[in-house]
Amino acid sequence: MNYYSINKISPTVDFRTATINGLAPDKGLYFPEFIPTWSKDFINNLSGLDKTTIGVEIMRPYVGNAIPDNVLKEIMHETLAFDFPLTQIDENIHCLELFHGPTLAFKDLGARFLSRCIGYFAREKNEKIIILVATSGDTGGAVADGFYNVPGTEVIILYPSGKVSEVQEKQLTALGGNIHALEVEGDFDDCQRLVKMAFADSELHNYGMLTSANSINISRWLSQQVYYALALAQWKEKSAPVISVPSGNFGNICAGLVAQRSGLPVKQFIAACNSNDVFTRYLETGVYNPLDSVQTISNAMDVGDPSNFIRILELFNGDYELIKKHITSYSYTDKATASTIAEVYKNKNIILDPHTAVAYAAMNAWQREHQHDKGIILGTAHPLKFAPVVEKIINQSIPMPENLEEMMKKTKKSTLIQPTYSIAKQEIINILGNSN
Ligand SMILES: *Cc1c(COP(=O)(O)O)cnc(C)c1O
Repeated sequence: MNYYSINKISPTVDFRTATINGLAPDKGLYFPEFIPTWSKDFINNLSGLDKTTIGVEIMRPYVGNAIPDNVLKEIMHETLAFDFPLTQIDENIHCLELFHGPTLAFKDLGARFLSRCIGYFAREKNEKIIILVATSGDTGGAVADGFYNVPGTEVIILYPSGKVSEVQEKQLTALGGNIHALEVEGDFDDCQRLVKMAFADSELHNYGMLTSANSINISRWLSQQVYYALALAQWKEKSAPVISVPSGNFGNICAGLVAQRSGLPVKQFIAACNSNDVFTRYLETGVYNPLDSVQTISNAMDVGDPSNFIRILELFNGDYELIKKHITSYSYTDKATASTIAEVYKNKNIILDPHTAVAYAAMNAWQREHQHDKGIILGTAHPLKFAPVVEKIINQSIPMPENLEEMMKKTKKSTLIQPTYSIAKQEIINILGNSN
């Protein structure tokens, strides 16, 4: 499989190069040259297959010759080493729980798959690969955990001091080993600026291959298709489900749409959004009008101009009517999200995180108009990740899962730096010089 840049200027590349580059040199997102069709046998037998087999079957055509089969199998086995249960919330709504991984959110799968692919690429050519990430909290944790102890890789994370939650900070700073944290006295934009400058600095490229591991990476994006197959593998109903996806950058839902194109039976996708409703308005009006993001309690979806919107356009050849046929969108204010959390807790004794609650509200809206449809919502985060917000709404404390308790006991290890490039660069060189 080859990948082209949506900007159509940079050359077409294979899976390895597209994964290491992240973004094409012309700043376009990569897109696969074709969407493979899954066999009827595979789709009909999903419930009898193990997770690893499902994952390998889905990703093999995308990986092509870049990774041998036995290695891909091992990578997939490690990537999927936790549970993805489909639990029942209502008579007509199930939840695919994607928050049982190490950082309690759905980004674990993509980050783990990416990190292990990069680890293989480093091993294969006996190179060092350096992952430089700026994070506002969540993505960095998933990346740190994914790359932890992967041979041939060094990860340097820049995060804004005092602006991430306690749990998030532990996930960024407590692992040690090949994971290094620079705590920047500034905001997320400072972190991003420093990372951008580091990528442009040819001197740093002498220490190894630099890559960014951000969420637009094809390895992260495409491996999320596995979620949708795992949902269908546990689906007992005869009719195809409607699937509601809490959406921000639209990578997850776009992976679902690709899986559907490959043959996975999904009746309809719902893009569930918070007040950042650029996509909801696009479906209403046909006009895509990006805005600055606004802050909400479902903050992983606070995106005013979703990066993957362009991939949805590419998948549907820009056909607005066709897009509307496949995707419906609803958006909810924080007030509506909070009352959904309160209601579900009161009536069913289930605690939803704010992102999952948005998906639940959207599914309810759909089912009010389509009473016989059965649905799946994607549970993208554990409520504990958003404990301060959720505990206030339900007036109840949330028990901590065991793996997180362990993490919270570890000590934070980070280097506090001023937000100037010369200082950041010196620290990066210190880290890379010491890690040889
Ligand atoms: C990242 C994230 C989302 C949004 O996913 P996209 O692929 O960016 O649309 C939703 N919920 C949680 C908890 C997230 O971390």
